[in-house]
Parts: sequence; structure tokens; C-alpha cells
Amino acid sequence: MTLHIDLQAIVANWKALAAKAPGARTAAVVKADAYGLGAARVAPALYAAGARDFFVALASEGRALRPHLPDDACINVLSGHMEGADLTGLVPVLNSPEQFFRDRAMRPGRPFAIQLDTGMNRLGMEAGEWAAIRAEALSAKPDFIMSHLACADEPDQPANAMQLAAFRAMTDGCDVPRSLSATGGILLGPDYHFDLVRPGIGLYGALPFADAQPVVRLSLPVIQTRIVQPGEFVGYSATWTAGGPRRIATVAAGYADGILRSISSSGASLYAAGTACPIVGRVSMDLITVDVTGLADVPGELDLICPEQPVDRLADHAGTIGYEILTSLGHRYDRTWR
Ligand SMILES: *Cc1c(COP(=O)(O)O)cnc(C)c1O
Repeated sequence: MTLHIDLQAIVANWKALAAKAPGARTAAVVKADAYGLGAARVAPALYAAGARDFFVALASEGRALRPHLPDDACINVLSGHMEGADLTGLVPVLNSPEQFFRDRAMRPGRPFAIQLDTGMNRLGMEAGEWAAIRAEALSAKPDFIMSHLACADEPDQPANAMQLAAFRAMTDGCDVPRSLSATGGILLGPDYHFDLVRPGIGLYGALPFADAQPVVRLSLPVIQTRIVQPGEFVGYSATWTAGGPRRIATVAAGYADGILRSISSSGASLYAAGTACPIVGRVSMDLITVDVTGLADVPGELDLICPEQPVDRLADHAGTIGYEILTSLGHRYDRTWR
């Protein structure tokens, strides 16, 4: 089972997104182990390309990443300063007055950033909370002030302009670098860019960055093949029955490897050098069954993620988004880096 990851494509996607926001610094979001691909490889490659600002979700992720990056790389922790977190060498993005006061008491003089809520109601200080601590927070000189857009992948959503106006109202005149946009916000245009942009998914080749270079190819080995006769079934619960004689290949990966069970009977295929071979029957924990009748020769490996079936197409089959496909890819794959 091989997950081929194209580091050069990640770097190219980072540069392409940076070029869309020429007035801003471009960070790299590498939370959840760089969306399942491997932050210890992705972050240094982006550092070499010029990235100096990185984002993780948790302090523990930041601690794991810190040894892989030089000291002048900032690793920002989106969950902020949680009780008991070890933030040595990290920058917490403080999300509430409680986090702000905890951080200032425990890490006086150490770098921090601020997150404001502009409508998503997930993380960040609300307008009233911010107004109450704004003067004290600004005098402690945060690295930046940020917020996050809920609907940036839908350009026509009125929530985007509402959040932009709320962010401006809360931060105009602060004289601190500002950050509002992830991948989707970068694509909304310059009004949304401010001083620092925070792309994640676009680096890894998925929507909403439609022009991204593909990053991932997932190749799965065939364990055995057999001919099934008309009326024979394949897989758990006998959900698929052969209508005629079919050649079935059994492939070594399953839902334990992030191949979501919901792609069973969805029309998703594995590919043999561009030829689609439909997945038949249920995806099981470690195995998938595939109809390879159409192939003259069954190769040793079939591809699940490839140019013919990119991450977002597979996500459609599974009823989810590219983010969930990538972050579900498990630890059993050999990751090879190009
Ligand atoms: C995950 C995340 C990002 C990156 O979002 P993408 O849509 O993957 O580009 C940026 N900022 C915050 C606060 C996030 O949680």
C-alpha cells in the first residue's frame, strides 16, 4: 500500500496561493499531520520554499513539529493556551479572555496571537470580550490578530462580507498584522487577504483550490483474483451479486486505512493505468473487492486516488469532502515522497 506524495506539487500549490495574495505573508496550515500526509516532511519543504509561519491545531502537534523547523519558523497553535499545555517554542492563538489571562500570567513577555469570532461561533473572542481586553492585549503586542470564515468556499454567501465587515470593525486601527483567510478566503480576493493568509487544503491539492496541482496518488496491491459465477455474491452482507461471470480482484486496504465504507456501491472505482474497475460489495476493514473483468492483464497494484479519480471525486462518492478523505488516510501506508 503506497501513498505517493508529491512534495514539489505541495510547494507549487503554496507558491500559487502566495502569488494570489501578493501583499500578504503566506503561512502553511499543517494541522492533523499536514492533513494526513506528514507534517515532518511537508513543513520543512515549505520552509525551504520561504514559509515562516505554520499553524497546528494542538500544542502537542506543535511540540512534535518544533524539532523539524529552524528557530525563525513560528508555529502557531489554533487551540490557544489550554490548561496544562506545553507551549515552549510555540505561539498560542488565544481564543478567549480566560486564555488571554492564563497565558499572560504563565508566559509573560512570550509571543502570542489573538483570535476573534466574527460570526462562525466556534473559536475566538466575541466583540464585547475583545472590547474589554483590547487595550491590555494590544499593549502586550500580539504577533497578529486573526479570525476565520465559515463559508469562504461559497463566494456568493453573504456571510463572507458580513464576517469581513465584523473583522474590520473589531481590528481597524489596531496596528497589528491581521489574518482572515484560509484557502477559500484567498480565492475571494484582495479584500480578504490582510497581512497573513493561512492556506491548508489548497496546499494538498483539493477544493476549493480548483487549480491546485494534484499531490496524492494512492496505489493498493492486489492480493488475489478469482472468477465468480452468475448468482454468486461478493463481500459482507452479500450486497453485490454477479450478473454474469466476473473476475474479482481483492485489494489490500479498507476502512481502517481511511477508505470510507460509504464508498461501497457508490460508483467509485480503482484504476489500472486509467481504466476504471468498479468497487463491488462492501469495503471491509482491510480489503476491497473490485471488478477487473475489463482488464486484459490485472496489474500488481490498482489506484484509488489518481488523476482519473482525484481526492474530491472520491469524496463525492463517499458523501464527504476532500479534507476528510485526506485526514482519514491511516498509518499503514508506505508514504513515498517525490
Ligand atoms: C484549518 C484552518 C485553516 C486552513 O483552512 P483550509 O480551508 O484547509 O485552507 C485556516 N485557519 C483556521 C483557523 C483553520 O482552522
